[in-house]
Amino acid sequence: MAVRHVLVVNAGSSSLKFMLFDMANEQMLAKGQVERIGIGNSLFSYTNAAFSEKQSPCEAPDHTAAVQLVCNALIDPAKGACLKSLDEIDAVGHRVVHGGERFSGSVIVTPEVVDALTAMIPLAPLHNPAGLQGIAGCEKVLANAKHVAVFDTAFHQTMPEESYLYGLPKELHEKLGVRKYGFHGTSHKFVTQRAAEVLGKPLDEVNLVTCHLGNGSSITAVKGGKCWDTSMGMTPLAGVMMGTRSGDIDPAVVLYLLKNGYTAEQVDALMNKQGGVLALGGTGSSDMRDLCSAIVDGSEAAKTAMARLVHSYAMYVGGYVALLGHVDAIILTGGIGENSWETREAFLKAISGLGITFDAELNRKVRGVEATLSLADSKIPVIVLPTNEELMIARETFALLA
Ligand code: AMP
Repeated sequence: MAVRHVLVVNAGSSSLKFMLFDMANEQMLAKGQVERIGIGNSLFSYTNAAFSEKQSPCEAPDHTAAVQLVCNALIDPAKGACLKSLDEIDAVGHRVVHGGERFSGSVIVTPEVVDALTAMIPLAPLHNPAGLQGIAGCEKVLANAKHVAVFDTAFHQTMPEESYLYGLPKELHEKLGVRKYGFHGTSHKFVTQRAAEVLGKPLDEVNLVTCHLGNGSSITAVKGGKCWDTSMGMTPLAGVMMGTRSGDIDPAVVLYLLKNGYTAEQVDALMNKQGGVLALGGTGSSDMRDLCSAIVDGSEAAKTAMARLVHSYAMYVGGYVALLGHVDAIILTGGIGENSWETREAFLKAISGLGITFDAELNRKVRGVEATLSLADSKIPVIVLPTNEELMIARETFALLA
């Protein structure tokens, strides 16, 4: 089918972010979000070339109402009408966090796909129900459009057994799906494709370590353009330290806490919401801008948190360079990778043992743009590549339907 306009939808439990693309030239026509869905005092933000509103009060009792709000805005002449009619939306690309082992690529949403995603809810209890609500809302309001599910886990389905198996009895994998899945796949795939272009190499010949560093972070070993290993695990808690997530810890800590009177919910909150930079930085914040300000102000806790953070990055990069042998580039992306020069500087110093050298002056200036930070004598090039997960979802949707 001829696909031109693709709406990208990223549904959370109480939020719905969206972007509208014209795939004739990959131009973003509109974007925005509905916040506080189903909890009262809902807010609507919307921007296009001719109009902008931020956090206007709105009625969004459920995800269907939120999608209706978005669609009304897209055709509203008072809001710069991006489209004449909703029939111009040919397809909707839905971000879905967990595709399990069943989905190694994007799929057209059918009742069977919805059933499979529903069956997978135990693997992603916080995320997949929201994705399903977004799909249901869009199917009601945009019944004539094709709907495509794009999974955070799909890019990582090429991992071999030695990457994804845990050292546990196999029945846990076979009966309960206990294994490494990996996340941020859409971002790792986007920067992998862009890196191949920048490096002037065929995609299937490119070896990379891609570092998606943001509030949530993951590091991936890419061999021949495909994921070979990644730092997140069965859930997005594993791997490097993050804004509020502990990352890797001795799993026996969980048992120890449970035996010492903590409930499972408390341990979950400690590791997912109260850990990481928030726990160690002493600033009351998980944001790297606050951590970096505290370091300038002389906070020892903040210095320790930064050191611990980049130590955890370095452990993964070192391991993946050892596995890959030849690495064409280390890619930095995500809110921190693209913007936080202080974190990049500490990180690149932490991996200097790999023979990495970088232009410290240039690093201070780079914010949200493509740039090669490494010097000519660096053993491995280091490149900042801004990610664009929404565009990647639009591309996947377009490619599947075309
Ligand atoms: P993300 O989850 O990818 O949106 O990344 C969020 C993280 O990126 C936060 O820790 C922010 O502090 C960091 N970040 C975003 N923008 C900037 C910036 N301009 N300077 C420094 N850090 C930034």
